[in-house]
Amino acid sequence: MVQLSLSRKLAILSDAAKYDASCASSGTVKRDSSRTGGIGSTEGSGICHSYAPDGRCISLLKVLLTNFCVYDCIYCVNRSSSNVQRARFSVEEVVKLTLDFYKRNYIEGLFLSSGIIRSPDYTMEEMVRVARTLRETHKFGGYIHLKVIPNAAPELLAEAGLWADRLSTNIELPTDVSLEALAPEKKPSAIRTAMAHIEGKREESRPDGKVAGKRKPTKLAPAGQSTQMIIGADRADDAVILRRSASLYSGYGLKRVYYSAFSPIPDSSSRLPLAPPPLMREHRLYQADWLMRFYGFGVEEIVSGGTDGLLDLKVDPKLAWALGNRGTFPMDVNRAPREMLLRVPGLGVRVVDRIVAARRHHRLTLADVAAMAGSIGKVRPFIEAADWTPGGLTDDAGLRAKMVSNQLELF
Ligand code: SF4
Repeated sequence: MVQLSLSRKLAILSDAAKYDASCASSGTVKRDSSRTGGIGSTEGSGICHSYAPDGRCISLLKVLLTNFCVYDCIYCVNRSSSNVQRARFSVEEVVKLTLDFYKRNYIEGLFLSSGIIRSPDYTMEEMVRVARTLRETHKFGGYIHLKVIPNAAPELLAEAGLWADRLSTNIELPTDVSLEALAPEKKPSAIRTAMAHIEGKREESRPDGKVAGKRKPTKLAPAGQSTQMIIGADRADDAVILRRSASLYSGYGLKRVYYSAFSPIPDSSSRLPLAPPPLMREHRLYQADWLMRFYGFGVEEIVSGGTDGLLDLKVDPKLAWALGNRGTFPMDVNRAPREMLLRVPGLGVRVVDRIVAARRHHRLTLADVAAMAGSIGKVRPFIEAADWTPGGLTDDAGLRAKMVSNQLELF
């Protein structure tokens, strides 16, 4: 076998990792070198740029341990039948790269995934060894995100959670039927079992008590677990996708579901589409996901705003819902409960909280809302203020067309 240089391996294995979207480093505990006695901190920001839900940009060394894989998932460029150049890092090489990049301030942490070498247990053990060596030997205090290999032994998953800030087990596809058709060696039940096991262990590790009114973070994988779903590789519509996400959030306490638009790969199977889905579809799914997590929307309310199970690509899902439920509006910004103000197009969570705080002191005018929201065009048809009522604008039959031509983004 040809010996590859470390930099060549890095080029291959970082490129191969680009298909995984699930690496935002939000929500972990504070850890810094003054406490670990080594290097690294999970605070601040840091070769893969990801955006946390709060908008913070973070950088991670995002690599695969190897792009060899004994499985043959047909949507994956690293499948066993693929003709790509293969490479493999040793555990020590990943540790060295992480430390070197960290010291040069290139990164804030490590996102490590892998193709399946020999068996799930063997692969997970190697990944755990990377994290353990960083934490125990080098007292590394930076962020670590490990990809979970389903079917690996429960003890390995628990140990992974001991060293990693976040664990993620990819659900891969929106339905079990699609997964069985496109990834025959992967078992949907094994993926769910891994998620359930991790969640159970995380909860067992949670200290009693609260901090600032919130439950204390778990000791295992304190930044929680996430997953990734590939969009557009199968026929699942947005309603199916979002219902799957809702069940993952409620069933396994997931922190995030990442949506990754399918991108065509070389020499792909005729069972895969030739073209990727519109990028706007992925964007709309993320917006819908936010509505479920932060805006109090139920999945059925969101999908009812689309057509034939697909979200409207021309308007964001919150506006689609408002246009389909005009009888709920206009909402009086001086009286409406917070949860109803969250349903007004153009008002994000922070703006709603500012409105609720400000109206305790004086009745808010349209200009007050405009000053807090930054722009008022999208909001105006759906609210009343001290000096504003939209009249017939809310029920205007041409409102959707006006909003489309003047579309302002939701968040
Ligand atoms: S197990 Fe992962 S790396 Fe291997 S073929 Fe499937 S998706 Fe690709």
